[in-house]
Amino acid sequence: MTTQEIRAIVRERYNRRCGYCNVSEVWVGGELEIDHFRPLAHGGTDDLVNLVYACTTCNRFKGDYWQSVGAPEDLRLLHPAENNVNAHLVETTDGRLAGLTPRGWFHIDRLHLNRSQLVALRQLRQTERLLQRELAQAQAIKTELQKRIRELETELAELREIIARLTG
Ligand SMILES: [Zn+2]
Repeated sequence: MTTQEIRAIVRERYNRRCGYCNVSEVWVGGELEIDHFRPLAHGGTDDLVNLVYACTTCNRFKGDYWQSVGAPEDLRLLHPAENNVNAHLVETTDGRLAGLTPRGWFHIDRLHLNRSQLVALRQLRQTERLLQRELAQAQAIKTELQKRIRELETELAELREIIARLTG
């Protein structure tokens, strides 16, 4: 496979979003970078499993980090596709990420996943989800009201017929 083909596969595998902070190409305004999860300088390879689609900022904060041999679990970054990230991180209602484990906190700190721009983006998305829920509720109420109006119109027509018969 050519470098371009590999890049295309990684790009689609990560749904055109940064594997670490989840920003999409659309928000960044361009294609993202290919990160070696285990850096080449630390024995990493070009195998697909070692390649993560990453934004420039996450890639820069991650740098050439790799835990030293025998380092505790807490000092290992989370692989977006190989680790169950949701078991280590949770998004709070204020748009910040919190660690559920020491490893989760390490991952957040190392990649600066609570940088102000990401928190602002998560807050926007939370607001968007809230508005979508409210819109869906309003639409359900509208449908219910339209049904009630049709029922009342039928009743009114029946009443008019009765009045017409009584007065006719
Ligand atoms: Zn990122």
